[in-house]
Amino acid sequence: MSARVDHDLVIVGSGFSGIGMAIAAQRDGRDYVILEKADEIGGTWRDNRYPGCACDVPSHLYSFSFEPNPYWSRAYATSDEIQDYLLYCVEKYGVRDNIRLRSTVQRMTYDEGLGAWHVTVGTADGDSYQIVAGAVVLGVGALHDPVLPDIPGLRTFQGEVMHTASWDPGATMIGKRVGIIGTGCSAVQAIPHLAEDAKHLTVFQRTPIWVLPKVDPAYPEWLVDAYEKRPWLMKAHRAKIKAANELRVLAFTKQPMLLKAASKAALAHMRSAVKDPELRAKLTPDYTMGCKRITMSNTYFPALARDDVTVETSSITSADTTGVTTADGTHHDLDVLVLATGFDVSGSYRHLNVTGLEGHTLEADWDAGIDTFYGVTVPHYPNLFLLLGPNTGLGHTSVVLMIEAQIGLVAKLLDARDHRGATAVAVRPQVVPAHMEQLDQRSEHTVWQAGGCSSWYLDEEGRNRTLWPGSVVEYERKLAKPELIDYEFTGAVDR
Ligand code: NAP
Repeated sequence: MSARVDHDLVIVGSGFSGIGMAIAAQRDGRDYVILEKADEIGGTWRDNRYPGCACDVPSHLYSFSFEPNPYWSRAYATSDEIQDYLLYCVEKYGVRDNIRLRSTVQRMTYDEGLGAWHVTVGTADGDSYQIVAGAVVLGVGALHDPVLPDIPGLRTFQGEVMHTASWDPGATMIGKRVGIIGTGCSAVQAIPHLAEDAKHLTVFQRTPIWVLPKVDPAYPEWLVDAYEKRPWLMKAHRAKIKAANELRVLAFTKQPMLLKAASKAALAHMRSAVKDPELRAKLTPDYTMGCKRITMSNTYFPALARDDVTVETSSITSADTTGVTTADGTHHDLDVLVLATGFDVSGSYRHLNVTGLEGHTLEADWDAGIDTFYGVTVPHYPNLFLLLGPNTGLGHTSVVLMIEAQIGLVAKLLDARDHRGATAVAVRPQVVPAHMEQLDQRSEHTVWQAGGCSSWYLDEEGRNRTLWPGSVVEYERKLAKPELIDYEFTGAVDR
């Protein structure tokens, strides 16, 4: 580490990405600090506390490969259980002392002369200070910045308004008239619980969602015991889930026809719970399954079929003090309005005010359709690494696999930089266009781009800028053996 930097590595965010990166830095003997704007670690699993919140990827795969957990209580863990797992990892790997909570990155500016980043950090008491960092890893996640619908008059509504990602744990729906906007993954999980408690629930649906049955057994004690005593058994279970999930990528990227059988199963699942043909018609998607993230629930359709639940497909045109009005002229009286309206995926990067070489800003580059190399490095931003950046999300399996592959790449690039006595490593701008073109070509026939829906996976021009259009195994292989010729190493450490 050069004497002119405060920390070898600044990690922004403390979800799976940030914690995983910190554990790797600790292992490699790097001096690092994690900046976390909230008052606890956990990222999305700290923030998303709406009733029913759980992960739709099996827990034995949605966890670090180096820290298998025999104690998962069921196939699909709840957000609380995942948050507990991350808290456990922080303690076990001794990361806690390097975490600065309530520390918000306000600005990051690259200093070419120094080969380092000036990071301005805002504190809870309104002050700010600077850190000079030898490298910065952004583990800020994409599902971060809630999208709030632009409904005229919403501010005048006198009832409670809550986004699913900023849930008030003390809130109760018992006896209330509740409205929920959105029918994405978060809504599918929350709606059965809201329906159970509310006096009446109105679901404002813009686009119906594909819902499959959920096979979510609780793990019996003997199995937990077996996983604890025979870790190889647990590893075999993880490998089996990984392989089974990986096979699904073919359907998403090349052969959407393979989703026909699953679509039939989803429709049968709906028919078994919803007897009213008019309601079934409202709930039947007109786009290819998988175009939006597929959801799983055994309680969603039964909840929508209840007498005290209404599915409203007329769009909301305005709000007032007592509720909302839909395009058909109906006024819906509400006590609570839940916004299950998703996230602005570029928002988390915007707030960081990142300025790289030659005045490049991440915000402007993003607006222009950000070009990255495997979602990790960005031309014109040396010593900056993104975890779960553009085109590295997944629709078919666990993103923790992608995070681990990316952390491995970051460690390799930093080692290569240090080994050369250089101060900076950056992707060569000339290798990126061909990579992006390949991504575009591969995305063209994926179900996300060609499936007949709009989603947060696509940019304004309808291009996939969110998901990796291939298998995880391919991505892991590519990142495990990076071609160092694709990167430039500059500057010399002042020793
Ligand atoms: P989402 O998938 O973006 O869904 C947002 C919903 O709100 C959609 O139904 C959307 O309708 C609707 N909506 C948005 N703005 C609206 C407006 N102005 N008026 C009416 N409706 C509006 O958001 P999400 O459900 O929070 O899920 C986001 C992502 O989080 C998922 O894709 C997934 O990756 C992740 N997630 C994962 C899990 C898990 O189990 N791993 C659970 C929850 C969430 P349209 O469809 O018409 O746009």
